Amino acid sequence: MVYKNQEIYLSFLRRLINYTHSDEFDHEGYKVLVKDICEYYRLAKGVTEFYPTQRMELLKQGEVLCDYDNGKGEKVLYRKRIITKAKAVIIGTLYVEDNDEIWSDEEMEQLDIMFRIIIGFVSRLRLLRKLEEFGFHDIDGYYNFRAFARFLDIANTENRLGGMAAFQIDLHNFTVVNQEIGRQNGDIVLRNYYNMLQEAIGDTGIVIRLGGDKFTGICDRKVKRKVFDLFAGVKVLYDEKNEKFVKVSAGAGVYMLPSPYVLKTPGDIMDKIMIAANAAKLQTEGAIIIYDDKMKNEKDRVKKVQGEFRKGLEKEEFLVYYQPKVDIQTRKLKGAEALCRWLKKGHIVPPMDFIPILEINNDICDLDFYMLDHVCRDIRRWLDEGREVVRISVNMSRKHLVDVDLLEHIMEIIDRNNVPHEYIEIELTETTTDVLFRDLKRVVSGLQEQGVYTAVDDFGMGYSSLNLIRDIPWNVLKVDKNFVPKNNEDEDSIVNIMFKHVIALAQDIGMECVIEGVETIDQLDVLRSNNCFIAQGYFFDRPLPVPEFEYRLDNKVYSEE
Ligand code: C2E
Ligand code: MG
Ligand code: MG
Repeated sequence: MVYKNQEIYLSFLRRLINYTHSDEFDHEGYKVLVKDICEYYRLAKGVTEFYPTQRMELLKQGEVLCDYDNGKGEKVLYRKRIITKAKAVIIGTLYVEDNDEIWSDEEMEQLDIMFRIIIGFVSRLRLLRKLEEFGFHDIDGYYNFRAFARFLDIANTENRLGGMAAFQIDLHNFTVVNQEIGRQNGDIVLRNYYNMLQEAIGDTGIVIRLGGDKFTGICDRKVKRKVFDLFAGVKVLYDEKNEKFVKVSAGAGVYMLPSPYVLKTPGDIMDKIMIAANAAKLQTEGAIIIYDDKMKNEKDRVKKVQGEFRKGLEKEEFLVYYQPKVDIQTRKLKGAEALCRWLKKGHIVPPMDFIPILEINNDICDLDFYMLDHVCRDIRRWLDEGREVVRISVNMSRKHLVDVDLLEHIMEIIDRNNVPHEYIEIELTETTTDVLFRDLKRVVSGLQEQGVYTAVDDFGMGYSSLNLIRDIPWNVLKVDKNFVPKNNEDEDSIVNIMFKHVIALAQDIGMECVIEGVETIDQLDVLRSNNCFIAQGYFFDRPLPVPEFEYRLDNKVYSEE
């Protein structure tokens, strides 16, 4: 059968070329065109295969699309395999009915030209779609920042950004989770947590991964509660077969978009949620911090401290102050805690103004080692001067716990300064997660073996648990002043009973109890009546600069008045 009708042939070509040149793709129109062509040439079926790479073709991982099928034939008339400039592979196959006549060379040439145009067009469409997919996802398949910006843009034109909640979250202790359950399972946890967020947000917003364990997103205020609950803490499955879960919580910075809200650039929203997210990092787990304009100043302060820290360390601007611990029966100096002060431009900066900031990026670890080193130098000097030395405690931030070499590092500093181990006590604060709990136990036991004392700091703040003192072999319990009953407290009040029991338990298992923040004689009386023996607080002394503390070392007894 010869198709001499040049007019029809040319009209098909014209219609095809229109498609290849238009930006708007009319899917229905295109399908009608393909059907017209197939019917005219009496083709039975037309199939295109698309593989993004040759390797994927080998693996048969691609898309197979049947553009037309009248169900009447399986005889291959024509098959074309094209490799595009982008190295994608497109294969087109045309089938005719089994009893179709033989086609002449001229007919085949007509068909070939037309079909090449179709394939070229289809491949361009598919590539565009792939490109779009890549453009809005990162290599692990999470939505990326471009997807976020696109969402904001669309929501902005639809005028529905006002009242939405934009957020940035950082998962808590995810390094530890990875260590504990392995990286691969860690990836599953991330993916599942992301899916849970996506599900909670639904189509009201979007969540994207910024990298690592950081996510950003935006959601409608109607689903806000559900989404925030996931930040506060949720069990995430990572091993379906054995039903294994891990608890995930996140610190979140949130910006509530005012209503109405007109977007200038996505950066406006990002800046604000980042500021709030950094503030959230300073808080305990699961904190959700809502942005307000005052935080901008806070951000500048954080930047300034982080910027000045290294120089300060080099110039040894950090000073060790010593706060005495006193035996309340004998009024004798029993020990001291080393507390850090930053002497900046002639002013003393208290630790609360810089330590939480240094904890954001683990700078605190270098400061703690610096403090330990300086304490050891002081002790060595005191010993060499023939002074009678007391045990000095040094604070170690809980940020150290993920450091597997922590123990070696501490011992290296003590031994380098040639300080007998029993003069050093390490103060660590309580932790909340099981994983950190185990690290804590490992570190504390290790220090004990070396003859270094250990103290649990700030007991009674936060989430004190009895497990903490029962399962970890501490030497010293440092009780926060808020845990100490007031003088006028009823004997049977819960505060009183708790305090009595904790002290009794600690003493039973051989722990030394130090009560912090003792300011008044009344407090001292409460301690006495509860058999507590050591107090640290303004009642005896504030943290003292070295010369004043040396005076205490040399004159150990506090007078009665
Ligand atoms: P901390 O380890 O619980 O230290 C006790 C804090 O209570 C000290 O505050 C001390 O000055 C204060 N204090 C002592 N007696 C009294 C009192 O009678 N009344 C009141 N109101 N407060 C009293 P400071 O020196 O401002 O340190 C605050 C916190 O900063 C410390 O709490 C500790 O967590 C941290 N810190 C200080 N130096 C270091 C350090 O070198 N490394 C680390 N990681 N943290 C440090
Ligand atoms: Mg302390
Ligand atoms: Mg304390």
